[in-house]
Amino acid sequence: MPPAKPDCDRGAEGLAAAAELITVRRIDDARRWTRQQQCRRLRVALVPTMGALHEGHLALVRRARQLADVVAVSIFVNPTQFGPQEDFDRYPRTLADDVAQLRREAVALLFAPTPEEMYGSRFSTSICPPDVARPLEGEFRPGHFAGVCTVVTKLFQIIPADVAVFGQKDYQQARVIQEMVRDLNLPIEIDVLPTVREADGMALSSRNRYLSPEQRQRAAQISQALDQVVASYRSGLCDAAALQQQLHQALQSLEPQSIDYAAVVDPQTLRPLAQPLPPFSGNAFSDDAANDPAQPAAAAVAVVALTIGNTRLIDNRLL
Ligand code: AMP
Repeated sequence: MPPAKPDCDRGAEGLAAAAELITVRRIDDARRWTRQQQCRRLRVALVPTMGALHEGHLALVRRARQLADVVAVSIFVNPTQFGPQEDFDRYPRTLADDVAQLRREAVALLFAPTPEEMYGSRFSTSICPPDVARPLEGEFRPGHFAGVCTVVTKLFQIIPADVAVFGQKDYQQARVIQEMVRDLNLPIEIDVLPTVREADGMALSSRNRYLSPEQRQRAAQISQALDQVVASYRSGLCDAAALQQQLHQALQSLEPQSIDYAAVVDPQTLRPLAQPLPPFSGNAFSDDAANDPAQPAAAAVAVVALTIGNTRLIDNRLL
């Protein structure tokens, strides 16, 4: 069989050469748009999101614009990655506001399908996630990464972009997707961008809007707890268990509802480190330069998940 190649002459009318944001809800339309870009030899970047967009998402969009000629964003609150007791029903949905933000960022395509469009009534196939999905989130959110891997793979088929941009905010998710793309030879580059934070260090998240002002103040100290761990490592503490204990204690003092995990682990596998961290070299690892190949590899990653009020929050810092 000859290799499949995009049909450049057929079916792209109506989606042609628009400088404006195009919003499509149908898989066929998203495919048609992507094929049209490929026919014009344009490089396409995809930014998958669940909407309720904030500056963190917009940073991914800006990065995507640097990496490609045209940017597609997907907004889909994916039911299969939420557990039965989780916040799928109350997850913020702010499409009109999201569209306005994407227009300002010169995004070319918004793909915003319904769950019916994505899954139909007979859907039964699922991706079995890689090993790196098992600890941490994998333990506390069974089935979560199968849902993520499946929907991301579907999005990569619907919008076969050259590059997709994800956030370090969801550190384990980014690692899971990198491993899946490598294992399954998916023809797409994965770019991971540092976490965008508020002035007080709080990582931006669509879920932050659930927090009361008092809870928000406590939540800001999550990033300070992570900063303390980085500072301890830099001043000579190399024992992962001791760093982890310090992190746990700092989080306890925020009086959370619960702490799912507070761990200092291998940045590749997210498993416990077999050895102490190498002594800090004075060559500071910076999350802000995570994409700089000249930067030394991280020795570890500190990852946390805790619930304040009813809101489950995650954050991380590379050491
Ligand atoms: P979500 O809409 O929460 O599924 O996130 C969509 C993408 O945005 C994911 O790749 C996230 O890691 C990324 N993201 C979420 N919050 C931030 C943030 N504060 N900084 C950078 N990226 C983020």
